[in-house]
Amino acid sequence: MSTTSPGSAPVIARENPARSGELVGCVPATEPAAVDSAVRRADDAFREWSRIPITERITALLGAAEAVSARSEELATLLARESGKPLADCRGEIGFAVAFLRWVCDRAPVTLAPTEIDDAAGRLVVRRKPYGVVGCITPWNAPVILALLKLGPALVAGNTVVLKPSPLAPLAITEIVSLLPAVQVVHGGAETGRALVGHPLVRKVAFTGGDAAGREIAATAGAMITPSVLELGGNDPAVFLPDFALADADYERLVMASFATSGQVCMAAKRLYVPRARVAEFTEAYVAAAERILVVGDPLDPRVTMGPVISAGAAARIRALLAASGGGTAVPLGRNAPGHDPLSGYFVTPRLVVGLDDDAPLVAAEQFGPLVPLLVYDGEEEVLTRANASELGLGASVWSADEERAFALADRLEAGFVFVNTHNRTGMSLRAPFGGIKRSGYGREYSEEGLLEYVHPAVVHAPAAFRPGGTGMAAGAYPG
Ligand code: NAD
Repeated sequence: MSTTSPGSAPVIARENPARSGELVGCVPATEPAAVDSAVRRADDAFREWSRIPITERITALLGAAEAVSARSEELATLLARESGKPLADCRGEIGFAVAFLRWVCDRAPVTLAPTEIDDAAGRLVVRRKPYGVVGCITPWNAPVILALLKLGPALVAGNTVVLKPSPLAPLAITEIVSLLPAVQVVHGGAETGRALVGHPLVRKVAFTGGDAAGREIAATAGAMITPSVLELGGNDPAVFLPDFALADADYERLVMASFATSGQVCMAAKRLYVPRARVAEFTEAYVAAAERILVVGDPLDPRVTMGPVISAGAAARIRALLAASGGGTAVPLGRNAPGHDPLSGYFVTPRLVVGLDDDAPLVAAEQFGPLVPLLVYDGEEEVLTRANASELGLGASVWSADEERAFALADRLEAGFVFVNTHNRTGMSLRAPFGGIKRSGYGREYSEEGLLEYVHPAVVHAPAAFRPGGTGMAAGAYPG
């Protein structure tokens, strides 16, 4: 991935996963030692950026949103070529990221406004102050939105940022960051990320990625007393209550809830729990919907809805997971786009896998690929226990014709986010806090809560007793 040519600086080269060997572009590799100067530049910039009025920061960020929007077609094509995601998905991701940036600019003046109380109890001011340099580390599966979810709130609040994108999709986000104020980018893998998290001038860490990196980052940040936000993996159950009523369009949405981005989405529907009496009907309609909606091929082909997975290593890992989950039947889904050659890149055939137990590796682990297990259940308490048995608790969904019943079950699912009658992107909202519980991490993105992650409440308090003319208080007493 990282190459050095004689006489030139080291670079990270990114290939097109749909056409293995085709170079999409390069970014300069940042040696871990060079992370220090990026953090110091960000720390210097913090003094100026944090002091300018929020209205000026908003003006700068709205200008950047406009600039990204104006280049969205070019950026979406670059993103599709480096990530293997269909072009329409990439347009959607960039559009959503721009919408989020604008939403943050709209909400920030209210959400981040100081609160001031001046009454008989005293004078209390609570300001929402930025931390300083925020170290952001992001994965490859949605490299634009996952970076903007951190950069938008951090920057509007007055922090500066050092971003380390994934070396597997660094190109489009680097272009986008060049349009934003107060952000430094460093490129590299785990070593570069470690140098960032462990830097003493990094005052907050925001990470999205997998379990192993998340644990290490939490440990390093903990040792440094650096606050962190961790958005980690999920193994989302989708629970179909016995009264579920799905039309063709609903089945199509459900199929894409698992297979968008070739299943490489943290909040994809990863375990489908279907009541025994309706399994045959469900399976038939699901396979038919996949045949209509799931078209595998080159991400730049407008007919295509599913591209390759991110790398040869990912394809091998996903196939090994299926092989290790013997005992089930893997039903191939969808179809290839006309003229598509599955051997041109890292393509994995999408499959519905039936007949597995919950402890099969494909069910128990986050598959992060285009394989989805269909699991049969008999009773509501049973399915609740099985859905909650995972150590992960990111998202979940409940599908029912009765919204009250769906909400009642949703309340008992162990997840940060439960969708009703949908799952994955179609269930998102800019105003809904997003993040996980249990081993899926902590902290939130999107929403007012996501904005508040990047400020700390700084208090100034003059108790009434000690203000001019106050009555005073006995030494050591508690206020009444
Ligand atoms: P990853 O953890 O391998 O890498 C993520 C980022 O962390 C990359 O930039 C990588 O270079 C860096 N990194 C790796 N090890 C590091 C370390 N020890 N210290 C510092 N940085 C390190 O994850 P990935 O394969 O890029 O992404 C897939 C995972 O991300 C999946 O588990 C998925 O569910 C999760 N994810 C979660 C969310 C969410 O919002 N909860 C969203 C998208 C993806």
